[in-house]
Amino acid sequence: MHRMKKIAIIGLGLIGSSIAHAVRRGAIAAEIAGHDASADVRARAQVLGLCDSMHAQAAAAVRDADLVILCAPVGAYKSIAQEIAPHLKPEAILSDVGSVKSAVIRDVGPFVPKNVHFIPAHPIAGTEFSGPEAGFASLFDGRWTILTPVRGSDAAAVERLKGFWSALGSQVDVMNAGHHDLVLAITSHLPHLIAYNIVGTAHDLEKVTEGEVIKYSASGFRDFTRIAASDPTMWRDVFLNNRDAVLEVLGRFNEDLSQLQRAVRNGDGQTLFDWFTRTRAIRRAIIDTGQDVPSFGRLPFQVYVPPKKAKAGKKKKKAKAAAKTKPKKPASRKRRVSRRR
Ligand code: NAP
Repeated sequence: MHRMKKIAIIGLGLIGSSIAHAVRRGAIAAEIAGHDASADVRARAQVLGLCDSMHAQAAAAVRDADLVILCAPVGAYKSIAQEIAPHLKPEAILSDVGSVKSAVIRDVGPFVPKNVHFIPAHPIAGTEFSGPEAGFASLFDGRWTILTPVRGSDAAAVERLKGFWSALGSQVDVMNAGHHDLVLAITSHLPHLIAYNIVGTAHDLEKVTEGEVIKYSASGFRDFTRIAASDPTMWRDVFLNNRDAVLEVLGRFNEDLSQLQRAVRNGDGQTLFDWFTRTRAIRRAIIDTGQDVPSFGRLPFQVYVPPKKAKAGKKKKKAKAAAKTKPKKPASRKRRVSRRR
């Protein structure tokens, strides 16, 4: 990809700092300018050497930047967009990493100058940790980033942004914002809501003490507690800004849960067995596509090896190369659990 002169990162938490690390790793930009609303975060980011220049005002950070990426919680986007809009360089790309997309287009779109390319994006990668120390360069390796260009988005600018995310190690897909929000409602937002709920319920059970919940937490519950440890501000903003899609999938979820409840009450083993067999196959499909990374691709030790291109020519050679470049099978469950500790 074409090396950029300057990129600006607004919000230097987990995602912003990971972008900074990955940009440095790939020598993708000559200069990284950074801004965070919090003076404490700015100071910590400076100690970590995340950016070449640090700015107390977002407007100052974005000056002359070829690419500006909003990495703050989605609820802050509107005021940030309002502040930076007059200072964006003509032909710059304005993008973001927000976990919802229609609301971002609604909040940011009206402020974007005509000569700036607004292309929202969402890397499907993260951890339950927050802050500038939580970031790492390989966070996006092998994961997907979804771009949701707006009506009339410049095709060349979309290609440039695709190239940027590929250089960060990500695979890139393009879809419309509404579809993104529905897909993510079921694959990410609802699971988080369920995790927040189940951990809260377990904690509230009067006959089971908090000590017992912690002491005897079986792996299923432990996995939920990890998800439920995700940043409260970020997730509050996700649910406030993807309300319709979340309510739609929540409705479906409740219907299915009632069906399982009926099967348990009626001792209907066949329904339970068939259901669990179907869901096990989904799990296997995720592993087969190489998207089973410990903690949803959230731990720094996961190293992505990009597939080598098979040489054109003999079929046999191609097949051999393809076999070699197949994503490595994930470590066995036993090994993964011990690594996580
Ligand atoms: P984070 O670690 O909490 O970082 C967000 C940073 O933005 C914090 O340092 C925060 O400062 C700062 N901030 C808040 N308001 C701001 C403003 N008005 N201007 C500038 N900075 C501001 O959160 P994150 O996990 O990196 O999430 C950032 C974005 O990435 C969110 O939009 C989220 O939807 C998206 N995302 C997250 C994940 C994930 O798994 N975490 C995955 C994909 C996408 P304070 O802490 O002082 O408020």
